[in-house]
Amino acid sequence: MKFVIIGAGIIGSAVALEFASRGLGEVIVLEKEARLGEHASGRNSGVLHSGINQKPGSLKARMCVEGNRLARRFCLEHGVRMQECGTLVVARNEREEKALGLLLDLGVQAGVQGLRIIDRDELNSREPEVAGTRALLSPNGAVVDSNGFLEAVAAKARDLGAVFRLGAGVRQISGLRVITDREEFEAGHVINCAGLHADTIARMMGAGGRYRIIPFRGEYMALKKIRLNSMVYQVPDLRYPFLGVHLTRTVDGEVLAGPTAMLSFGRESYDKQVDLPETLRMTGSLNFWLLALSPEFLRLAVHNARISFSRKAFLQEVRTLWPGAAAEDLAPYRSGIRAQMVDTRGRLVDDMLVEFRQDSTHVLNAVSPGLTSSLAFARYLADRIAG
Ligand SMILES: Cc1cc2nc3c(=O)[nH]c(=O)nc-3n(C[C@H](O)[C@H](O)[C@H](O)COP(=O)(O)OP(=O)(O)OC[C@H]3O[C@@H](n4cnc5c(N)ncnc54)[C@H](O)[C@@H]3O)c2cc1C
Repeated sequence: MKFVIIGAGIIGSAVALEFASRGLGEVIVLEKEARLGEHASGRNSGVLHSGINQKPGSLKARMCVEGNRLARRFCLEHGVRMQECGTLVVARNEREEKALGLLLDLGVQAGVQGLRIIDRDELNSREPEVAGTRALLSPNGAVVDSNGFLEAVAAKARDLGAVFRLGAGVRQISGLRVITDREEFEAGHVINCAGLHADTIARMMGAGGRYRIIPFRGEYMALKKIRLNSMVYQVPDLRYPFLGVHLTRTVDGEVLAGPTAMLSFGRESYDKQVDLPETLRMTGSLNFWLLALSPEFLRLAVHNARISFSRKAFLQEVRTLWPGAAAEDLAPYRSGIRAQMVDTRGRLVDDMLVEFRQDSTHVLNAVSPGLTSSLAFARYLADRIAG
């Protein structure tokens, strides 16, 4: 059987590795960019999440906990840079302290090991510059070189026989004939891992009709001067699939604040530019308007527009975690864009979503923690597709 995988982000590459290592058949990966990591897989926070914010029983919760274990082992075995620095979710008032209890329960139900709530003294000794009254400590949170991880997964897939074609954007699919600008491939089974364009690819094969990707840009600022030992999160609002601005270290020793969750007027508008044709298509869909008119979305949109366009508002947000931050401590950093699926009722799809068909499989919502989950998710897909 010939498996044609569309998209060589971390999901497509992990699927290629899994299929190649199981010897399931010929594996070809088609990637439109000239290099790996141009989109979400190379533009994220690099956090291997432990699974604390996930709803018990969801695919995301299962994939995240197992994916964390597999990714950490892969990084250690393949020399990918990783720091096992742990995660703190910090409460700043009584209401948030109560929410920590809920997060602890969710994490325990999801099977996250080693969770505990720490008091103000322990928080101060771990993170002297961070403000908070209590925190949930998750020792399994780690930070990884996400581009290095992606390159290593793809390299191992290649070693096992998978073929990666870069600069091979899929333009059309006719039956099982996958057509790029330069070549055509007759597939036995197509696996759509096209991230921000997964709905477009799905439609080429008559799949994914109920869904539409609405892109949300995540902008970061690099923070100067702060010394951070772990990753520091606000207590999330679990109504949204986004975690709120947090502080993370990179494997290069930088500290980042972000990402925002700003509606993007273009699937690849990393510099806030408006892509007019794409915006017209987005605003022409019912999914978009049903989302846009919901009070939850309006609250999210207004808050994120403030912190996206006002450096002062971004600083205020950072100060809720790091009170010592000053305007000159913030420097613009790159952004990433989430491929967030929205259904025909205008709801943000929270869980990972896959449409399995006879001759094709469509990964429709590989949102965060997709980097963490990738190796476990690839196993799940291989089990479902190849039995
Ligand atoms: C700002 C941000 C922060 C995040 N932080 C974290 C984190 O800390 N931890 C975590 O676990 N997860 C995180 N995530 C989520 C994680 O990055 C994603 O879940 C994951 O990268 C998704 O991988 P992917 O392969 O589906 O997508 P992508 O990396 O976008 O890959 C899809 C690929 O498909 C290619 N493609 C698209 N269309 C075509 C076509 N027509 N033909 C050929 N190729 C095509 C694209 O070029 C791209 O390379 C974050 C995401 C964002 C945006």
